[in-house]
Amino acid sequence: MRDELRQSVESKVEELVALTRDLIAFPTINPPGEAYRPCAEFIGERLKRKGFQVEYVRGESTPGDSDRYPRINVICRYEGRGPGPCVHFNSHIDVVEVGYGWTVDPFAGVVKDGKVFGRGACDMKGGLASSIIAAESLIECFPEFYGAIEISGTVDEESGGLGGVAYLARHGYFSKPRVDHVIIPEPLHKDQVCLGHRGVWWSEIETRGSIAHGSMPFLGDSAIRHMGAFLNVLEDELYPALSKKQTQMPVIPPGARSSTLNINSLHGGQDERHDGLPSPCVADSCRIVLDRRFLIEEPLEDVKQEIVEILENLRKTRRNFEYELKDLLEVLPVMADKDSPVARAVADGIKDVLQKDASYVVSPGTYDQKHITRLGHLHDCIAYGPGKLEMAHRPDEFVGIEDLVDSAKVMALAAYSLLTEPDASPITRTQSDHVHS
Ligand SMILES: [Zn+2]
Repeated sequence: MRDELRQSVESKVEELVALTRDLIAFPTINPPGEAYRPCAEFIGERLKRKGFQVEYVRGESTPGDSDRYPRINVICRYEGRGPGPCVHFNSHIDVVEVGYGWTVDPFAGVVKDGKVFGRGACDMKGGLASSIIAAESLIECFPEFYGAIEISGTVDEESGGLGGVAYLARHGYFSKPRVDHVIIPEPLHKDQVCLGHRGVWWSEIETRGSIAHGSMPFLGDSAIRHMGAFLNVLEDELYPALSKKQTQMPVIPPGARSSTLNINSLHGGQDERHDGLPSPCVADSCRIVLDRRFLIEEPLEDVKQEIVEILENLRKTRRNFEYELKDLLEVLPVMADKDSPVARAVADGIKDVLQKDASYVVSPGTYDQKHITRLGHLHDCIAYGPGKLEMAHRPDEFVGIEDLVDSAKVMALAAYSLLTEPDASPITRTQSDHVHS
C-alpha cells in the first residue's frame, strides 16, 4: 500500500503543479483580505467533485471582516466507510503583500528551473496543494479506510488567525471527537517535523512629558529623553540578559534559541512625514512597540515583569518619569511531543520517502498551531510542508516542484498510518475525549 501511495502521488505531478499555480492566481493579500471567497470556493468546488462534504464558515465580526472583505474559510471532509480517527490538513490561504523587487509576475504562477514562483508559493499554497493531492491519492488507493480526512483553507493567519483557525477552533472544528490529528503544511522543509513555536508578547509603552517652546526645553519635559533612558536600560541590561536565556526547544535558526526582543516601532514628538518645517516643541509623548519572543521555559508573567521592573525603577530614580504600558498581543509557546502519533507518522513518512531521519524543529515565529492547541485543546498537531521558511514573504518567492511532490508523498503516507495504526482506533479515542475541558 505504501508503494502504491507513492506511485499515485508521482503520477499526479502535473496536477500538483497546476493546482499550486491555480491557488497562487488568487491574490489573497492580507490585509485587507482580498479574494478570500473565490479562493475558498475554488478549493471547495474541487474537493466536492472528489466526494468531500464542503462547508464555508465566515469569521463573523472578527478583525477586518466586512461585506467587502468577508473572512471566508472552507472546511472539506471526506468520510471513510465507518467511524475512526480523523486526520486534518490545515492551510492558510492568505498571503502577505507583494512588496518590491520581483522579477516575475507574483500571481502568474511562473514555472521555471523546477520551481513554481509567486506570492504564497511557499507560504503556503504549495503546501495546501500537496495536502490536497496527498488526500486525493489516499482516497483513490485506499477507499475502504475507516475514519475521515479533512482539508481546510483558512484566512488571516498572517494577521493572527482570529477570523480563521481561532474562529473555527472556538466553534468546535479543531476538537475531538471531530478531529484527532492535525498537520499544518507550513514551509518548514520536507525533511523536518515542526513541533511548535515560541511565544509572543507585544506591548506598547508610552512615556509622557510636557510641551514647551523648543528654544527653552528646560521649561518642558521631554518624553523622548524619558524613552531614551528606558532604551539605555534595554541596551545595557535587558539585551545581554535575554541572550543568556537558552531554550531546550529545537528552534531554527539557532539564533532564535534564546529569548529575543525587537523594537517594532518608535515615535515621539511631531510627525516628521509632512513636507513643511516642524514647529519648535518639546515632545510630550513618545511611544514604542516591543515584540518580545519567549521560550517554553519562561512564564509569560516573568516576561512582562522584566519590563515592568525596568519602568518602575525608572519611575523611582528619574524625575517626572511617567509611563503607560499596554498589552497588544500574547501567544503562549506550544510544542507537541516528538512521540505523539502525528509527529511519529510524519517522521516515518520522511524516512520512507527521503531515506533519512526526520529532524525536529520549532518555529521562531508563531502560526495557527497555537489556536488548535489552546482553543481546540488538540495537542496532536504539528507543522510539516514543502518550501523553505527563508523564502516566505520575500520577492520572487518560490517552491521547488520536487519538494512539493516529496512532501505530498510524506503527507499521504502519514495520513495512511494515522488512519490505520491501532492506537488511533475509536476505542482509544473515546478514552482521551475528556481532554476537552
Ligand atoms: Zn504561513
